[in-house]
Amino acid sequence: MAVPTQSAASRRCDYRVVVRAGGQTHNFAMRYCSVCGSDRIELRVPAGDHLPRFVCAACGAIHYQNPKVVVGCLPEWDDRVLLCRRAIEPRHGLWTLPAGFLENGETVIAGAARETLEEAGARVEVGELYTMISLPHISQIYMMFRARLVDLDYRAGPESLEVRLFREDEIPWEELAFRTIGRTLRNYFLDRRQGAFPTRVSVIERRTPRPDLVGAG
Ligand SMILES: [Zn+2]
Repeated sequence: MAVPTQSAASRRCDYRVVVRAGGQTHNFAMRYCSVCGSDRIELRVPAGDHLPRFVCAACGAIHYQNPKVVVGCLPEWDDRVLLCRRAIEPRHGLWTLPAGFLENGETVIAGAARETLEEAGARVEVGELYTMISLPHISQIYMMFRARLVDLDYRAGPESLEVRLFREDEIPWEELAFRTIGRTLRNYFLDRRQGAFPTRVSVIERRTPRPDLVGAG
């Protein structure tokens, strides 16, 4: 297996740089204009706008960046829920509910069902929206739906090591991949005791304050 070179690692780091300016988070630094190819990219507030954007000084294109939506399911079967153990980074080997990025042109319900089929090989009837969690520090929004497994014919997809049903007392709480998943599952088991599942809208902030990174590299 090839060991990543220093330059390859550096390029990966560049891609993950978070630029924070004027209260808005940009997920990566822009090097070249995707319209004209120029490298004359400026981060500034365009006329009539109120937030900094990447603007091409050569052709004038304004490159807006907006939050990404993650859609997923909490698949139920009797008193158990279906979890997937991740076969990919980040959080390889940890457990999650099936979820992933919404595609362009896709509805949130279709996206949640698709991710569940891809990651867990499971067919579901998608129900009500259950948790909607904003993660402003990474510009993501999680939308998790309750869902009913149609059958028990599930299997791990390429992005999962293992897929299985868990009762509440079997949930691997210390081995969950994301805080959004832990919060969704904790709410679920509390609400199940009450017999009602209101839609829960909440926020997860950055875990610990850290100096903002400005600029690439
Ligand atoms: Zn341009």
